[in-house]
Amino acid sequence: MKRFLKLWWILSSLGEGFLELIYPSNIYCISCGNIIDDSRPYSLCDTCIRTLKWANERTCDRCGKILQESYGPDLCSDCIETEHVFEKGYTCVEYTAAERDILHRLKYKNQAYLGRKLAEIMYDRMKTEDIKPDIVVPVPMHVKKYRKRGYNQAAVLGKSLAKFMEKPYEGKLLFRIAETEAMSSLGALARKENIRQAFDVHIDSKNNLAGKNVMLVDDIYTTGSTADACAAALQVAGAAKIYVITFAAGANLMKGEGELF
Ligand SMILES: [Zn+2]
Ligand SMILES: [Zn+2]
Repeated sequence: MKRFLKLWWILSSLGEGFLELIYPSNIYCISCGNIIDDSRPYSLCDTCIRTLKWANERTCDRCGKILQESYGPDLCSDCIETEHVFEKGYTCVEYTAAERDILHRLKYKNQAYLGRKLAEIMYDRMKTEDIKPDIVVPVPMHVKKYRKRGYNQAAVLGKSLAKFMEKPYEGKLLFRIAETEAMSSLGALARKENIRQAFDVHIDSKNNLAGKNVMLVDDIYTTGSTADACAAALQVAGAAKIYVITFAAGANLMKGEGELF
């Protein structure tokens, strides 16, 4: 067992180069796994690029969720009811089956290399926006969970995104105090209650944060309660504006529809 752990540590410390060897990008589509040539954008095959539900038409003015054409207001149903702490949210795709599968592999199957491809998509999404974040901060994972999984998917995305944006990456600034229950099993209200006090800023990091605009990074946006809880902790510690970028966001629920997650 010890030997195995050591070997794993050595392999992990080789980082992306090692992951690139096991899961070479630009050979297999990151969504369906079919072989592709290396000219495909984001390592997605032509079919999958059409299957993903891109946020390139109407989106919520506040959180960035995709709005249906038949939906009247400029805010999604969540943002009509909830005042957010963060300034504005942006997302790349809606969370449907294909997106869920990609994120599942990023989270649970050690395919951290996927993060770089998704960050490229997130970077292109941000390029069209006129905002000026100073630092990039991932939504943190509780240390216990981190030890178990070996990496935080939001950090994987954030690190790559910061590189693309040429902005400082602050991976240790924000931390998670409380271990929160698996969010997928909770309703919106319970989720909000559960997460509200879950984050704080390291006291030594407060100088790096004062007056700065923050780009908060996560893999998925649902009701915004995680983003708001992080944004509140960042603001209390002196941050100026907090923007949120996620790879995917849940659908806007029209009246009468049930909770999706
Ligand atoms: Zn594909
Ligand atoms: Zn919204």
